[in-house]
Amino acid sequence: MSSPIDNLFSRALGLEEPWEVTRIEFSEPDQEINIHLDSPRGSRFKCPNCGNDVPAYDTKEKRWRHMNFFQHKAYLHCPAPRANCPDCGIKSIKLPWTRSGSGFTLLFEAFIMALAREMPVKAVARTVNEHDTRIWRVIQHYVTEARKQEDYYGIDKIGIDETSRKRGHKYVTLFVDLDRSKVLFVTEGKDSGTVGRFSNDFHDHGGDTYYVREVCCDMSPAFIAGVEQCLPNAHITFDRFHVMKIIGDAVDKVRREEQRECKELKRSRFIWLKNPENLLVKQSIQLEQLSQRNLKTARAYQIRLNLRDFWDQPLATAEDYLNRWYFWATHSRLEPIKQAAYTIKRYWDGIVNFTKSKITNGILEGINSSVQAARNKARGYRSVKYFITMIYLIAGKLNFSLPTQNSEEPN
Ligand SMILES: [Zn+2]
Repeated sequence: MSSPIDNLFSRALGLEEPWEVTRIEFSEPDQEINIHLDSPRGSRFKCPNCGNDVPAYDTKEKRWRHMNFFQHKAYLHCPAPRANCPDCGIKSIKLPWTRSGSGFTLLFEAFIMALAREMPVKAVARTVNEHDTRIWRVIQHYVTEARKQEDYYGIDKIGIDETSRKRGHKYVTLFVDLDRSKVLFVTEGKDSGTVGRFSNDFHDHGGDTYYVREVCCDMSPAFIAGVEQCLPNAHITFDRFHVMKIIGDAVDKVRREEQRECKELKRSRFIWLKNPENLLVKQSIQLEQLSQRNLKTARAYQIRLNLRDFWDQPLATAEDYLNRWYFWATHSRLEPIKQAAYTIKRYWDGIVNFTKSKITNGILEGINSSVQAARNKARGYRSVKYFITMIYLIAGKLNFSLPTQNSEEPN
């Protein structure tokens, strides 16, 4: 029979019949506490498959890591029973403090998940003194389970962007619900196949690709082709940041050519690329002085600023505005600016579409920077799979619920 102390532990662990604490051992040298559980002889269990009330058939000794008791690592031990169900055969009985296949208790796993949101997995592993592979396995389990519960019904505005696991390494593509700032899907690569994989996953979660009306992405031919193929009713809006980069690069080309004759232009790259309101006082003065000279770079800069104002034009006049800009740029006698204008002409519809959709990937930039911050804090990830798991954990807005005895799939 169990002692009052054992009963106290039974209650602290939230054990229910027929489970009880039968023995507690402290191992001072190992700083361990081992809590032994058992069920009385003749106890009956529910078949995990059909719910039949069945006796134990045999048992196997198992152990689970639990939350520390002060400085002691705590383990639960018990002879885990299998039952011989007349209808289903031999089945492992579900144990209320763990999920099948895990060497941790549910409470311990909940603790791991709470830590993993706040710190790199390596740091979690150090904190709980377990190998990080085991920690990753727990995180992956909960992320996968939480994603199964996701419902994408009614989502109609998608942002697409890529990010890298390491600088210049292996890309993954993110698909984001622009209304909810939430990562829906992450997949390896940045080819047109990524959109196909997204659309399959979207369907699996109750989303309807025919209902997706707006997509924001960069001018990558792979994304454009993928969207046309897999999201047939979507209008593409090219992301403002990527469009402005075309003209920004052109301004810099003009400057680099001109600085051969005009030495003052050296080391002035950033003043032409930043917006005037973001310049330091010193830079503003430099810009002012350079602008008073009759420089090609200054003209190119004005053309860039003029394009920037396109994003603030009202719907009724925006396209006229862009037409006038295009005429100016193509008649500027500045070759890089003309080339940039031709590029913009090629993507015209997707740029003008902003005036209706009003979407940008600004949200994605934010998500991307928190992903990159976590990545840098973790000093990179061993595998793309881990990287993807981490993105869901950070930016997936997933609903992690602790599994209960009933929500568990049968073993
Ligand atoms: Zn059964």
